[in-house]
Amino acid sequence: LVQAQGVRKSYGPIEVLKGIDLSVQAGQVMCLLGPSGSGKSTFLRCINHLERIDGGRINFDGQLIGYAQRNGKLHEMKPVEVAKQRRGIGMVFQRFNLFPHMTALENIIAAPIGIKKIPKARAVAHARDLLEQVGLGDKASLHPSQLSGGQQQRVAIARALAMEPKLLLFDEPTSALDPELVGDVLDVMQGLAASGMTMIVVTHEVGFARNVADEVVFMDGGVVVESGPPSAVLDNPVHERTRAFLENVI
Ligand code: ATP
Ligand code: MG
Repeated sequence: LVQAQGVRKSYGPIEVLKGIDLSVQAGQVMCLLGPSGSGKSTFLRCINHLERIDGGRINFDGQLIGYAQRNGKLHEMKPVEVAKQRRGIGMVFQRFNLFPHMTALENIIAAPIGIKKIPKARAVAHARDLLEQVGLGDKASLHPSQLSGGQQQRVAIARALAMEPKLLLFDEPTSALDPELVGDVLDVMQGLAASGMTMIVVTHEVGFARNVADEVVFMDGGVVVESGPPSAVLDNPVHERTRAFLENVI
């Protein structure tokens, strides 16, 4: 579903991604680990073209991200085309980014009604199902300020799902949460994985990576240092940098 080849990204003189090659099959879960500043968030942002890449290419669902080929040449897509492409990709951030003046339900239906032009009754019915799915069936009419961080994050997941994405990107979805709230969010994510959702998850939750990931990728300094099944990367890392990192997070 996603293929990244030789992805490079610089901010000014600093090269943050130095040629990333990764691919994710439909229905698979990839967990990205790595120290602060290694380029994990930047890479996620490149996948949905929130950042323009300076080299390489990213394919999503058979299409080049952000570029179209015309007359044998690559042209950057117009914003409206990028937006269309991005609809297939949901993103959940560390901070929940819910609209504070809207209820949980209103947060979830806003994009399906506003962008996909889904009739309101259908959007509401779908949103109620999604709230049920994330364990918040009774919280539809509450505002974000009336919900715990973990509940807000689960609303954010429901909101991403409401657009029926083919791919979900998570950027440290539990690292801003109190420890006792982390489990509920990870449980929802594990359920999504079991239901066949394709996911790329930046996380320091090694237990989640071990249980849920099909592939674990360790990044450092803008390169993929090591990747493979959790049993290899997490339990028998080959590289010293991976080992040192894992000793610190566990
Ligand atoms: P963390 O674990 O702290 O979230 P990360 O692996 O997600 O780290 P990135 O946020 O991708 O790392 O940042 C990689 C590098 O790129 C950092 O050195 C950061 O300072 C730099 N960087 C990120 N965004 C920008 C930006 N918009 N402008 C300039 N530099 C940036
Ligand atoms: Mg980050």
